[in-house]
Amino acid sequence: MTTHRLRRCAHCRITYSYQSSGEGCQHPLNDGRYCPECMEVVLDALKGVPVRVECVWHPTDEIDLDTLLEWDADLDKHVRENPLGCRRVSAPLFRMDGGDVTEKMRTALVPGRGEHKGKTFKFMFWPSKPEEAEVTVEMEHDLETGEMRPWRNL
Ligand SMILES: [Zn+2]
Repeated sequence: MTTHRLRRCAHCRITYSYQSSGEGCQHPLNDGRYCPECMEVVLDALKGVPVRVECVWHPTDEIDLDTLLEWDADLDKHVRENPLGCRRVSAPLFRMDGGDVTEKMRTALVPGRGEHKGKTFKFMFWPSKPEEAEVTVEMEHDLETGEMRPWRNL
């Protein structure tokens, strides 16, 4: 059986089709980590191939903190009700700036819903200063054109 899977190249970050089984899957340029173009260079010591896109957390005002907190609470509820549920989380940060050292930064990664489906948002704020909350969205930054588009985890 021939199986193709969509992958994101570990070097140039483009998406490509990886053949995980079947005739041809042993081709030296068919690699689960690198696209064929990069794999060719890997075989030649990975010289001269630039990274084409990078993943960045881009500030956004397309969604507000209250909405993200609501979605985050729903995710927590889902994880509590489903022992096999899991989610991407960020490590808590503690204040080092002279503020209350026991205060933990509130941060989470939240998948978008509705018209925002497919995007991942992140909020970060000190509970004592919610007005300074930073809301960002995970974006793909095209290093050649400067174009930004939502990052897709594949
Ligand atoms: Zn590549």
